[in-house]
Amino acid sequence: MADNVDTVCECMDALSLKRLSAEEEFPDLSQHNNHMAKVLTLDMYKNLRERATPNGFTIDKVIQTGVDNPGHPFIMTVGCVAGDEETYEVFKELLDPIIEDRHGGYKPSDKHKTDLNPDNLKGGDDLDPNYVLSSRVRTGRSICAFSLPPHCTRGERRAVEALSIEALASLSEDLKGKYYALKNMTEAEQQQLIDDHFLFDKPVSPLLLASGMARDWPDARGIWHNDNKTFLVWVNEEDHLRVISMQTGGNMKEVFTRFCTGLTQIESLFKEKGHSFMWNEHLGYILTCPSNLGTGLRAGVHVKLPNMSKHADFEEVLKRLRLQKRGTGGVDTDAVGGVFDMSNADRLGFSEVELVQMVVDGIKLLIEMEKKLEEGQSIDELMPAQK
Ligand code: ADP
Ligand code: MG
Repeated sequence: MADNVDTVCECMDALSLKRLSAEEEFPDLSQHNNHMAKVLTLDMYKNLRERATPNGFTIDKVIQTGVDNPGHPFIMTVGCVAGDEETYEVFKELLDPIIEDRHGGYKPSDKHKTDLNPDNLKGGDDLDPNYVLSSRVRTGRSICAFSLPPHCTRGERRAVEALSIEALASLSEDLKGKYYALKNMTEAEQQQLIDDHFLFDKPVSPLLLASGMARDWPDARGIWHNDNKTFLVWVNEEDHLRVISMQTGGNMKEVFTRFCTGLTQIESLFKEKGHSFMWNEHLGYILTCPSNLGTGLRAGVHVKLPNMSKHADFEEVLKRLRLQKRGTGGVDTDAVGGVFDMSNADRLGFSEVELVQMVVDGIKLLIEMEKKLEEGQSIDELMPAQK
């Protein structure tokens, strides 16, 4: 972390950027609806543009994705990214209020809790497979001392890839797998993995493109997975690492158990090679998008809710259950045929177990509501309290 503002100003001087006054450079945010646009003022911008992180990440780079993407049809986007671990400290006047806004009032003095013990999850092995098509848990991890994808150099990105291949090669038994570099895949192989929901989309999302994390695509990007594709690691997409556990059906307990075991092993393997993951007591695990700080965890199911999703109270129920909906093709897609990707809306301020518990309990209730509606009955009695 940057120790004082002096070092930070020196970094800015070293960059010797050519630019006009703050007034002339300030973005037009008048049509914007994202967290960054709500917080950033001209005065704040004036102040923050005098700084850079030791790796040279500036306020203009922090906010570029939010400037280029005024809003999103389904989710309130954050509108900024981190380029390195120090971003969160150096630009905290902007990032602290965004984090507070995005993460339900999480204060700069709050401390994050981690719980990766699947035994603490109650139930979750019996989500009705007639409704739940698949279950998945993912998180991101960043490797200390490397810049994050919006800012890393080509060489750094390749070093992250090489390190990942080496570390993951030591996983054994049901987690044993192989790395597949995007560069070595045919177009058809890549598309098949995307269609089967295993691989990240091509960098078409404007959110991804504007942040700078798609530079040099497909160099040093790839996917590692075990033989039956139930444990997967994405390398150098939005985060250095995305660790995923998934399978068909509704056994979230099994998915979460594999997630915890695999993730804990990966962390030790990186440590053995002298690399720890970015983490601090306040922000938990540090990731590229401020919306993913903390646990970085998104536990979700693809679930059929054709009736419930048309009900007038659908949005209100999701809000009360602290759930977020997406289309099944990923964050930028629409739901088709009443099938949604439903996942926890929070990442920070709750432990991993608490978030998965919210999903398990929430999905159970949504399915119960769906069944009532199928039979033409009211769901009034089932309306949950705000979690
Ligand atoms: P994230 O970036 O949070 O991992 P995205 O919304 O970008 O998620 O989706 C990435 C890919 O993961 C998409 O192909 C999506 O269909 C797939 N996916 C997400 N949740 C599930 C799930 N519960 N079951 C199957 N596939 C899923
Ligand atoms: Mg994504």
